[in-house]
Amino acid sequence: MAQTFTSFLGNSNYNLDRRGKVIPLVEQPQILGHELVGIVEEVGSLVKDLHIGNRVVIDQVLNCVSRRRQPKCEYCASSDSHQCQFYSEHGITGLPGGLAEYIAVPAVNVIPINSDLETIAAALTEPLGCISHALDRVTRSRTRYVINAEDIDKRVRSILIFGAGPAGLLFIQYLYKVLNYDGLILVSEPNKRKRELASCFGAEVIDPQVVDLAEVVQEKTNGRRVEFLIDACGAGSVFRNIHVLIRRQATVLLYGLGHAGVDLSVLNNLQFMEPTLVAALGASGGFRSDGRPCTYERALGLLAAKQIEVTSWITHCYQSLEAVPQAFTSDHLEPDYIKGVVVL
Ligand SMILES: [Zn+2]
Repeated sequence: MAQTFTSFLGNSNYNLDRRGKVIPLVEQPQILGHELVGIVEEVGSLVKDLHIGNRVVIDQVLNCVSRRRQPKCEYCASSDSHQCQFYSEHGITGLPGGLAEYIAVPAVNVIPINSDLETIAAALTEPLGCISHALDRVTRSRTRYVINAEDIDKRVRSILIFGAGPAGLLFIQYLYKVLNYDGLILVSEPNKRKRELASCFGAEVIDPQVVDLAEVVQEKTNGRRVEFLIDACGAGSVFRNIHVLIRRQATVLLYGLGHAGVDLSVLNNLQFMEPTLVAALGASGGFRSDGRPCTYERALGLLAAKQIEVTSWITHCYQSLEAVPQAFTSDHLEPDYIKGVVVL
C-alpha cells in the first residue's frame, strides 16, 4: 500500500500506450493493488491443481509463460520475467489490481498457500520477492565487493541502507537470515519507530537528523566507509552525500523510487568514486516445471517458515473498500504508519 501512494495521486501512472506514452487516468482509471493474496472463486475446466476456496498468492505480472508464448522472450528465458517483452501488470499497467472485487489470472500465476501463514503476512510475498530479486541482481552483477567473499579484500564488510520502511526492514532480514551476511548493517532512518524495528532485526541505526551521517559511517567502518549501499527510501536528497559514504568502486543498489528534489548534477561527485550502480524492480525469477514463478514460491516459503518476520510492522489493516482512501491520505502521513494491508 505504501508503494502505491503516489499512484493514488496520479504521479506514478505506468499505463503506457504502444509508443510509451502515458494513458491519462481520466481515460483509463487504474484499480490499484499489486501485492495480492486471494481466495479462488472459480477455476477453468483445464485447471486441476487449484480448487475453489484455496488461499493463494498471485504473481501479478503477465509474462510469456502466463500467455503460453513459445519460444519465451529473451527476458523470460533468462529468469527476468518481470521485464518480459510482453509484460503487463495487474494494479500497475491498466489491468485491475487487488482492490477490485474479483480478478481473473492464468493458473500459473497463482501459488497456493499450503501453510497456516496469516493472510496479512502472505500479502508481503510480492515485496519480499522484490527484495530477493534485487539482491539476486547484485549477486549476478560483476562488482568489486561481494557479500560473503572468501578473499577479505573483496568482501563486503559494511552495508548502509537508506530507509527502514517495508523495503529496508526486508533487506536487513534477507541479508542476515537468508544470505547469512555476517558484517555490519547501518541504517539511516529519521523515523523513531522504524529505527527501533531495524535495530530489532540486527542493524545499527542512525538518525540523520541529529548526527552527521558521514561522520558516523566513517567511525563505524574504521574509516573504510561502506562497500555496499542500498537506497530503500527513494528520496532524491540522499544522493547528495553518497560519495562521502561509500568506499571507492562500491556497489550502489537503486531500489527506492521517486528521487524528487534534486537534479542530476548530484551524480558528479558520485562518478568520481566509480561505483557499480545496480537497479532492480519487481519480483522477477524463473519458472518451476509447472510454470509457476520461483521467486514468489520462495518468498512465500520464507514467510511461512517465519524466517522473515513481517507482522510486527504491518501497522494498519483495512476491513472494507470504503476505508481504503484513509490509507492513502491521513493514515499514510502518520509517523507510526509503516505498512497497510486491506483484508476483505
Ligand atoms: Zn517474456
